[in-house]
Amino acid sequence: MNLNLDNYYSVEANKEYMSVSQFKNFKLCEAKAMYDLENDFQEEKQSFLEGQLFEALVSGDANLFKAQHPELLSTRGATAGQIKSEFKKVINASEKFNDQVFFRDIIDRCEKQIVLTGEIKGIKVKCMLDLFDKKANSIYDIKCMKDFKEQWNKDEKAYMPWYYTYGYVLQLAVYREIVRQNFGEPKEIGLIAATKEEIPDIQALSFDSSLLDLELEQFKNDIERYDKIKKGIEEPVACTLCSYCKEHKVIDSFKEVK
Ligand SMILES: [Zn+2]
Repeated sequence: MNLNLDNYYSVEANKEYMSVSQFKNFKLCEAKAMYDLENDFQEEKQSFLEGQLFEALVSGDANLFKAQHPELLSTRGATAGQIKSEFKKVINASEKFNDQVFFRDIIDRCEKQIVLTGEIKGIKVKCMLDLFDKKANSIYDIKCMKDFKEQWNKDEKAYMPWYYTYGYVLQLAVYREIVRQNFGEPKEIGLIAATKEEIPDIQALSFDSSLLDLELEQFKNDIERYDKIKKGIEEPVACTLCSYCKEHKVIDSFKEVK
């Protein structure tokens, strides 16, 4: 199928193409990832909505977005029609972000929400770039974070920078590869972000090529297994700890503790 903004998140598109968020979902729990694939998975609804609202506020059409998402708006009292207070921190973050001339320049010169496809290890991969500077062939991703504190990384068993723990370096490594396949070697790969803290913080980070090479290797290492699970060739493993696994848990024997 040909992908566009309307069908990008469809069940059909997720079945035909691997994406970074799908890959991260498989990494967390293969059984849940397979369930999500059949059931119109979209990250955690609230954080997904907040991320989309932030993007609309800094680089899109915020009024159109609000019209499409009435759940964002208060329906009662004096605040009727305004964005609900729980989303206020996203608005504050976007205001801080929009104050930065450096950020505004990037936003102004970039195309927004570019859907691209490519192949990694012979497997179809889809991605949606937040910002693409076509002239310079540079990619930028926008994030709205809780904060920029280091986060516990289960794989590394250590506190790591937020962009590692949340898989954003992996995400950009895959985006770089897909852009490379479509338009040649990208020039700059950047992350521009603001936080939802009382006083919002901001960061602009660019990632070195060798660092992205390492992350792409991680993606290549596991994508074949996840693709085989999607095709029913290999069985998904249940993590036993996530919400999906807990809901479907059946005990039929003791687990011996030695
Ligand atoms: Zn699980």
